[in-house]
Amino acid sequence: MYLNVLIADDSEDDALLLVRELRQGGYHPQFQRVDTREELERALEQRHWQLVITDHTMPGFNSSDVLESVKRSGMDVPVIIVSGTIGEEAAVQAMKAGAQDYIMKDNLARLIPAIERELREVETRRARHQAEQALSHMAYHDSLTNLLNRSMLHDRLDQALTRARRDDTLVAVLFIDLDRFKIINDTFGHTTGDMLLQSAAERLRSCVRRQDTIARYGGDEFVVVMENLESRNEAAAVAQAIIDAMMKPFRINHHEMYIGSSIGIVFSRDCDGRGEMLIKRADVAMFRAKSMGRNKYQFYVAEMGDENESRNQLEQSLYQALARSELELFYQPQVHISTGRLRGAEVLLRWRHPDLGLVAPGLFIDLLEETGLILPVGEWVLRTACQQWNDWLKEGVITEEHVVSVNISSYQFKGADLVFTVGNILADTELPPHMLDLEITEGTLMEDTQLSQQILQTLKEMGVHLSIDDFGTGYSSLSYLKKFPIDCLKIDQSFVRDLINNADDAVIATAIIGLSHNLNMKVIAEGVENNDVLQFLAEQNCDMYQGYHYSRPVPLSEFFGILQRELKEVA
Ligand code: C2E
Ligand code: MG
Ligand code: MG
Repeated sequence: MYLNVLIADDSEDDALLLVRELRQGGYHPQFQRVDTREELERALEQRHWQLVITDHTMPGFNSSDVLESVKRSGMDVPVIIVSGTIGEEAAVQAMKAGAQDYIMKDNLARLIPAIERELREVETRRARHQAEQALSHMAYHDSLTNLLNRSMLHDRLDQALTRARRDDTLVAVLFIDLDRFKIINDTFGHTTGDMLLQSAAERLRSCVRRQDTIARYGGDEFVVVMENLESRNEAAAVAQAIIDAMMKPFRINHHEMYIGSSIGIVFSRDCDGRGEMLIKRADVAMFRAKSMGRNKYQFYVAEMGDENESRNQLEQSLYQALARSELELFYQPQVHISTGRLRGAEVLLRWRHPDLGLVAPGLFIDLLEETGLILPVGEWVLRTACQQWNDWLKEGVITEEHVVSVNISSYQFKGADLVFTVGNILADTELPPHMLDLEITEGTLMEDTQLSQQILQTLKEMGVHLSIDDFGTGYSSLSYLKKFPIDCLKIDQSFVRDLINNADDAVIATAIIGLSHNLNMKVIAEGVENNDVLQFLAEQNCDMYQGYHYSRPVPLSEFFGILQRELKEVA
């Protein structure tokens, strides 16, 4: 075994004697002899020493100087004194000063066992130190993402707030919640879910400043603490960067995955409570951001209150919503652009909450998905819509050309047996399959393209209409679009709403229309809010539209009115 030994001895012969002893003990010593303190200190700088052997007294320095120098070097290296002259008292003194052992020159037989013991102990100390480091790392970090954990976050945040108050600086807390993570975790399994969280954490890291604190707060929740902000915009810019980063597809195990994020931001100056309070309020703001639609950030304002229980409460009441008949379908007309005639309607879920009033799905679709309630609720939506549509068909209020569009969440699309459910509902309600249009988002389809293709194919064979919803927000490649048996493409409203003022949007919308027609698909523009946009779409030969310009989503009775008006006009 190789052994790097530093020998402090003024006698070369004595040193060689030691080396011979080491060789006989089975070591291959790589050694250096020093006989002044300066030489010793220079040698110690090399730091690779495993053992120091020193004489007790040498001209100019002695073993206690050696001990002191080794100690100062910070190295954990055993020092053994080998001396002919050391007396009992000096030996005890030396041991107290940190020498591991002392050996008489005339009893060198003790040297090897002493070295073996000391090297073992160094090894034990090193292992223990490593274990301690690992333990303390574990105590402060999240093992999956290696970000700080919750308890460390609280420490850091409280420290940051103390500093901010002392120096009158600004701290921001960002509460980040990933959208759709639960679905991916359930669809692809935990291993994939874990990998996704790791990549998300990595992206998060790349968005914040070096000095910022990032912690994993819960399953798919993260908190960022930013200190010494010049302005509030700085926090907003980081939030936007995070949102942009999370919207890009994740590629894990050959699957393309889409998540997103909602972020709540609170500033130290708006809240004189402790860190915990700030996090709660950032959470409240995040929840508000989520209710406005995904991929948004929101500052906390006092009017939001501290309704930190609201999410739990909402979840509880959501469980009863279906049974209590609090869920309701709204209808938003879809219109053929060339004729102005009704194509049909998209059904949009609403919740008549006893306290909150009418609640739009932005606030609860995620919860439905996370709790798995989306399956029974989704089935209810589908059944109710088909039933109503067939009733109207029988009553002659609509014709077989009119289509009812139903949103299918990613969870429904892959989680349960959608094909079976749709088949049953069509059979039970007797709605002709071609009058049902299923809207599936681009993100859902791209998550597992092969599976998507199979499911779509089966649905197509049943005769139902298939549309891609929110098109343009994902990253579909053309080759896939060609493989999917899709009838219709819905241009996401983010490209439509402002298309007159935004040249980029106009280009994208135009391209999507051209592309769809090339692939023999029809195009619906959603989010048409004024006549200028409608005119533009008409010029681009867009097939259909829906939006506030024609009508907002309306309750059943109101939509019935629209149908009757339409009926009169056609007649
Ligand atoms: P979506 O499928 O893209 O539905 C269109 C959304 O745009 C609706 O929001 C609608 O009210 C809104 N909208 C329509 N025209 C305009 C317009 O001119 N301007 C603006 N600013 N907005 C317009 P809503 O009803 O809040 O629904 C949001 C999303 O919730 C839907 O997006 C859909 O993804 C989901 N959703 C709604 N109902 C259901 C459902 O029954 N099942 C599932 N799985 N998801 C649903
Ligand atoms: Mg839709
Ligand atoms: Mg849409």
